[in-house]
Amino acid sequence: MESQPHVALISSPGMGHLFPSLELATRLSMRHHLSVTVFIVPSRSSSAEYKVIAAAQAAGLFTVIELPPADMSDVTDSTVVGRLSITMRRHVPALRSAVSALTSLPSVLIADIFATESFAVADEFHMAKYVFVASNAWFFALTIYVPVLDKQINGQYVDQKEPFHIPGCEPVRPCDVMDPLLDRTEPQYFEYVRIGTEIPSSDGVLVNTWDDLEGRTLASFRDWNLLGRIMKSPVYSIGPIVRQTGGKKGGASELFNWLSKQPGESVIYVSFGSGGTLSSEQMTEVAHGLEMSGQRFVWVVRAPKVRSDATFFTTGDGTEDQSEAKFLPDGFLERTSEVGFVVSMWADQTAVLGSPAVGGFFTHGGWNSALEGITNGVPMVVWPLYAEQRMNATMLAEEVRVAVRPKELPTKAVIGREEIAAMVRKIMAEEDEEGKAIRAKAKELQRSAEKSTAEGGSSFENFARVVKLWRENR
Ligand code: UDP
Ligand code: UDP
Repeated sequence: MESQPHVALISSPGMGHLFPSLELATRLSMRHHLSVTVFIVPSRSSSAEYKVIAAAQAAGLFTVIELPPADMSDVTDSTVVGRLSITMRRHVPALRSAVSALTSLPSVLIADIFATESFAVADEFHMAKYVFVASNAWFFALTIYVPVLDKQINGQYVDQKEPFHIPGCEPVRPCDVMDPLLDRTEPQYFEYVRIGTEIPSSDGVLVNTWDDLEGRTLASFRDWNLLGRIMKSPVYSIGPIVRQTGGKKGGASELFNWLSKQPGESVIYVSFGSGGTLSSEQMTEVAHGLEMSGQRFVWVVRAPKVRSDATFFTTGDGTEDQSEAKFLPDGFLERTSEVGFVVSMWADQTAVLGSPAVGGFFTHGGWNSALEGITNGVPMVVWPLYAEQRMNATMLAEEVRVAVRPKELPTKAVIGREEIAAMVRKIMAEEDEEGKAIRAKAKELQRSAEKSTAEGGSSFENFARVVKLWRENR
């Protein structure tokens, strides 16, 4: 039998990057029968991450190579994008050595958006260069348009009053622009401009979205008069790519036992992603809000603090010493013991969302979480914190209408318990037109997502198209 093309992926640190890269590798290996090697730059700061990497290695569907740590001891930049960029830059030599040590050279390198400097290695070894955007097309459009905006605007984005116009796309409100782009005095701003400049030099881009969800934005990449002038190589929408639950994950743990006893779609799952934390004051309001909503809930609780950048890379899985009771209002756990389940630090999110008892998702709106909510057909309360989450929230709550969001940004104000309770009730229980419409739309979007990745669907076909190209050109 003819040997299969060999495709390599490189993933930057953070669960929001690692999970989708591993899932993409799984699809390339299982559905498309390619030989796959994943290079991982781990954060080495969390037992959840360690377990995920070990599980991928043990599954044996593809080769997983952890790159040796680069020395970061002299790095003073404490911003997220700044540190991520430096981390990935310093791993390029390790990637080069690891690639040259492979017995069969890959013909394709797929990098996530923070790993585009590894294209230098792809060039040396004559590999085709692809970018995997583990986010949506709208955010990707902004990313490649940033170098243009950088030339257009004088001063800071933060001074801007009018929405940013990106050709062919929904305008982006200044308040939705992610923090790294707001301050031109920070090195991370220029890292972002560099990323936006480097991505179009690739041979193609894979985006974790689908045509039905973002048709207009995706069309703008194909139109020379719109974004096609910048993004000359093809953009393939291949999503939603989300982890498969597979039923047995989570097993007979206490949480899943509890969930199995709850009525269908009666529980709201509350989680702020792998890096999200709330202030102490905000946590109190969320606790009272959940209680006042009268709805059942599962809440992944972390110590209250405003995230420092070091903790961006730090995720836990419950083995850390975190006694959640001390972060919660007095008596909360006792009063809600019948209707609520509090998990410390980390839950098996796709398994929780896949439980028939779960009927809503209170999320920070990281794109992986958003897709996990959508593919499980649950309406959402979206609570954006960092990165591109404000754009995700706008898309989910104002355009697609599968979510509600607080009136103010949770990073700008403390959201009160009444508003929280009302949002939870709206998506879980409210029998008014709006509540019903949001729940119906969530089911509709789930079907649309399923259709796109099923045989003959747009993402299925796009994926097959790019794999065919790799087979022909290896
Ligand atoms: N996740 C999880 N359990 C948790 C928190 C997060 O399994 O307690 C997973 C979640 O399912 C998602 C990823 O971690 O796949 C987080 O990615 P996302 O893009 O939602 O947000 P980020 O953490 O990058 O902000
Ligand atoms: N933030 C928060 N909880 C978190 C992460 C961030 O409340 O878990 C807030 C943080 O205080 C800041 C905003 O979110 O006001 C943006 O954070 P940052 O600039 O660190 O994120 P970025 O947008 O650079 O990813």
